[in-house]
Amino acid sequence: MPTTVALKTSPADAIAFLEVLSVAGVVLDRLNKVVVNTEIANEMGLVEYGHLTSDELKDLAVRARSAGETLTEEISFARNLRTAKVELSVKATALDDSHIILVVEDRTEAKRLDETRRDFVENISHELKTPISSISLLSEALQVAIDNPEQVKKFAKNLQRESKRLGSLVKEIIQLSRIQGGDLAATVAPVDVSSVISEAVDLNQFQADAKNIKLNVNAPEGLVVLGDSELLTMAMKNLIENAIVYSNEDTQVGIGIKEVDNFAEITVSDNGLGIPLDQQERIFERFYRVDPSRSRETGGTGLGLSIVKHAALNHGGDVNVFSRVGLGSTFTLRLPLYTIDENSSGEG
Ligand code: ADP
Repeated sequence: MPTTVALKTSPADAIAFLEVLSVAGVVLDRLNKVVVNTEIANEMGLVEYGHLTSDELKDLAVRARSAGETLTEEISFARNLRTAKVELSVKATALDDSHIILVVEDRTEAKRLDETRRDFVENISHELKTPISSISLLSEALQVAIDNPEQVKKFAKNLQRESKRLGSLVKEIIQLSRIQGGDLAATVAPVDVSSVISEAVDLNQFQADAKNIKLNVNAPEGLVVLGDSELLTMAMKNLIENAIVYSNEDTQVGIGIKEVDNFAEITVSDNGLGIPLDQQERIFERFYRVDPSRSRETGGTGLGLSIVKHAALNHGGDVNVFSRVGLGSTFTLRLPLYTIDENSSGEG
């Protein structure tokens, strides 16, 4: 037998309550006309001229009324043909003998995040499998070759390479999931971009020296952004590291900053391999590599630029690339400058 959940609250009180919670709510009378609704319901386009705009929402209200119980459903809703669909979770319940209330939650962003997470976990599992199975095969080979010092040396070296690869993969996965969670607020502070660059350069100096690549840095102090210095350093380190990895020996890499329209514009330029035009957007995707076999040789994880992109977005900036195959690449990371206005807002 259906349970009647009449709340015995007046339509106006119920809507006032939802308004405080910033939730979309609509109360309908017996003829399914809108009696009262929250502002958010208007903003979402659920109500127009005193009527619900979605037949599915109306249908849910009718069914909740005749069932005499609370119904919860997921509904796809588009305001009109030109707007994107949103995913709504809707609860319909009787408010009293003549009114039904619909409480509507926009789940689009939450669903998108769920999908991104699921994708991410699938990709990670796949990427982790390769070095793990290499390590397992190499250790078996090592056991078999125990009496052959040359082979032992070779397998041990490969083992070291694969375990290093596994280590950097895990480190980058942790960084990426941290930024994707968007949880930076606690570590955000004014950061001088030049200090981030100088640390990132230090982290890459050894690798640059090993290939006799000169790092030309032009990073004057004084351009300050509001951000997470560890994350920004990691992003810069990745850009400089790529410039070194994808360049030939005895070349040069340029690193500079300048102020453009209230942004700190950081550029990293190389005269390396370059990136084909049709792949330039894809390189910022997780685990995407232009040449997977070369990337494997160099120990690349395919996560470096994805970290750069997310770091840029989380700081209200962006990253783009200009590149020609055979000539080289320039990556530009733009971060909004921390201005005096922001500094003093809310004071005096
Ligand atoms: P990886 O760990 O493979 O370097 P990234 O996410 O850092 O992963 O880069 C993705 C791909 O973009 C690389 O595999 C490489 O093919 C290409 N790429 C990145 N930076 C450069 C560069 N400076 N020059 C040429 N190719 C680059």
